Amino acid sequence: MMSPVEATATELLQRLQTRQITAVELTQAYLQRIERWDGQVRAFLQVEGQAALERAAEIDRRREAGQPLGRLAGLPVALKDLICTEGQPTTCASKMLADFRPPYDAAVVARLKQADAILIGKTNMDEFAMGSTTETSVRGPTSNPWDLSRVPGGSSGGGAACVAARMAPLSVGTDTGGSIRQPAAFCGITGLKPTYGRVSRYGLIAFASSLDQIGPLARTAEDAALLLEVLAGHDSRDSTSAQVPCPAYSQTVSEPLDGLTLGVVREHFGEGLDSEVEAAVREAMEVYRSRGARVKEISLPHNRYAIATYYVIGSCEASSNLARYDGAHYGYRTDEQVMRSERAAGRPAGPGAPTAREPDPPLVDMYRRSRAEGFGAEVKRRVMLGTYALSHGYYDAYYLKALQVRRLIRNDFDRAFQEVDLIAGPVTPTPPYRLGEKLEDPLAMYLGDLYTASANLAGITALAMPCGFSREGLPLGLQLQGPPLEEERVLRAAAMYQAATDWHQRQPAGLG
Ligand code: GLN
Repeated sequence: MMSPVEATATELLQRLQTRQITAVELTQAYLQRIERWDGQVRAFLQVEGQAALERAAEIDRRREAGQPLGRLAGLPVALKDLICTEGQPTTCASKMLADFRPPYDAAVVARLKQADAILIGKTNMDEFAMGSTTETSVRGPTSNPWDLSRVPGGSSGGGAACVAARMAPLSVGTDTGGSIRQPAAFCGITGLKPTYGRVSRYGLIAFASSLDQIGPLARTAEDAALLLEVLAGHDSRDSTSAQVPCPAYSQTVSEPLDGLTLGVVREHFGEGLDSEVEAAVREAMEVYRSRGARVKEISLPHNRYAIATYYVIGSCEASSNLARYDGAHYGYRTDEQVMRSERAAGRPAGPGAPTAREPDPPLVDMYRRSRAEGFGAEVKRRVMLGTYALSHGYYDAYYLKALQVRRLIRNDFDRAFQEVDLIAGPVTPTPPYRLGEKLEDPLAMYLGDLYTASANLAGITALAMPCGFSREGLPLGLQLQGPPLEEERVLRAAAMYQAATDWHQRQPAGLG
């Protein structure tokens, strides 16, 4: 018989509800899958096997007793390791938070528990979500399940890889400049960045607060709708949370959209776009046309500034958010015995300090050493970029300018959405590349965010899903961007495409 891990979350929920499978059996099937494959994929930082099985048994008992159960009852869900889970490690894949066990649950965790989901583990990511490959994780990289020598994308690389490798039916990621959509595209799954404010950020460890958003990673649009339905909703503990009702996404996702007009952005098909990605995206437009959609060329003239704008604003906010990790207020603290003996031996400056200057007082030395030892290179790069751009004399030239361009990017989208219902295009300029290939060239890596970062700057919603495979068998992604709070439209359009194609049903052949 087919293993349950082959089924989608929506199918599994139905099997659980009709008692064709128990939550314990299902959880065991996923734990076995993790046991079998995660040594190679390395998607998880923590697997909560025992706790998951106990929770599953409790849900089975409640179902047996005919008690009411939540929306996701018995379904395993994995969480990116920057979402706070009470009493469980939440590390941001950083040495800085290696010992952090939050005293509370993030809003989305509370919602998942309320929905009787089974939290199966925490997934790998780029350190503090800064990166595009999961290689900046202090615990080492995750591999792409389609080709273990390639990157799974990032920063939610573990979350995308575990769903693609059938080690969890659903996972929760975050997207600041593309970190749900890009790994979804690289791993051949469906990922949605909700509108800024749609999902509460309470209990999400901040990278760039005006850009961060939590969202679902799933195999299909239908499954993403199911998970979003649980994650989304107003929360008074997040002042940026939208006070608007959330549609029942899973109820409407399978209804096709009549008279859909898709915008294709002229500027998307320029320099740097891989020919196989381009061909797959253009082919996807034909699929939509065959389903009655109109495809119209539009222009987003300021999209070319998206990367520069994103890296200024994102780094400025990161430098501010990460200032709290100083070894005293939060996070890793340097070994003070070592520090004292080095100071006594006349080497008081500590790592990262300029030479030939007055020694810092011990407290400042402690801060410096703690941050120098606790953060990895990419995080330090962002903190330095951000601190520079915010400093006196540069603020107007960089930060203020970036905020002005951000407004122009948003205006482009507002104008476009008066003409078209959704915008369709590539997620990434290339298929997934090799592990290590771009690690030494941060700029080359940043350029990969060309098509994703603008949605975060504008605060709109956007989805990624597979639309083909390269000659080498690597997933290629299609992005759908929608107006603010129109997740329902985006999901329905994605489901329409998935009803007409089977790219989303393929699975990595290497993982038996
Ligand atoms: N790749 C982008 C970056 O490195 C996006 C990260 C994210 O969305 N968290 O910042």
